[in-house]
Amino acid sequence: MLTVYHTKRDFEASDCRVAVLPVGATEQHGSHLPVGTDTIFAERYARKLAEALDAYLLPAVAISSSIEHRKGKGTVYLKSDTLALVLRDIAESLRFSGFGKLIIANFHGGNWIIKPTVRNLNRELGEFQVILLYAGEVARPRYHEIFNHVQNDIHAGEMETSLMLHLHPEYVADIQRQEDPAFVPQAFMDYFDVGDITPDGYWGFPEDATAEKGSKVLELMLQEGIKYLEEVDRITEQVRAKNARKAGQ
Ligand SMILES: [Zn+2]
Repeated sequence: MLTVYHTKRDFEASDCRVAVLPVGATEQHGSHLPVGTDTIFAERYARKLAEALDAYLLPAVAISSSIEHRKGKGTVYLKSDTLALVLRDIAESLRFSGFGKLIIANFHGGNWIIKPTVRNLNRELGEFQVILLYAGEVARPRYHEIFNHVQNDIHAGEMETSLMLHLHPEYVADIQRQEDPAFVPQAFMDYFDVGDITPDGYWGFPEDATAEKGSKVLELMLQEGIKYLEEVDRITEQVRAKNARKAGQ
């Protein structure tokens, strides 16, 4: 695995062509989790992925698209268009220096702009691939094996609090009980700030969190993440072979 602690010479001596970019956020996570929660998770997850793939682990994008949390003090955000431009520049610079693939290990659900950005970049950058790996998304179909709540556990809830209890219990503070857990659809973040629709800024069931669930979900995210990447590789080979045959005809 390569990291920013390696030198130019180390990079030149390596045939590594895959980079992993952790994307977190700096945003309020209720009274019980730190504002850097998503970044802490993204860094940990990306490191494990980069180790497994023997890839280049990039430093995290720690400030991202969190405008919906702006009313929570401590939140700092990029507008989504800015985030798209940052990701574009990272992809282009990796491609220019000889990398063939960028895996974006995203841990913040509000970074919806990554999806259209990735879809476009894969048409614009030739054979250079940009993969969006959103751990929460690939693991979600199996959340019911671990968690009591698979609906409405969106932000600083059972999943995230469990993961933090597993990784850094010292960062988990007392949960401020929210009296009325009447949830609106997640899409309503397009219209309202989270601070306007939740009393303490979290959205879910942190009271059901345990460190054991956190350890299980991290393992699940890794398993499902690797499976997802392998499937992309398999189809990529098929498509490239087919296109090569067509070009040779
Ligand atoms: Zn979070």
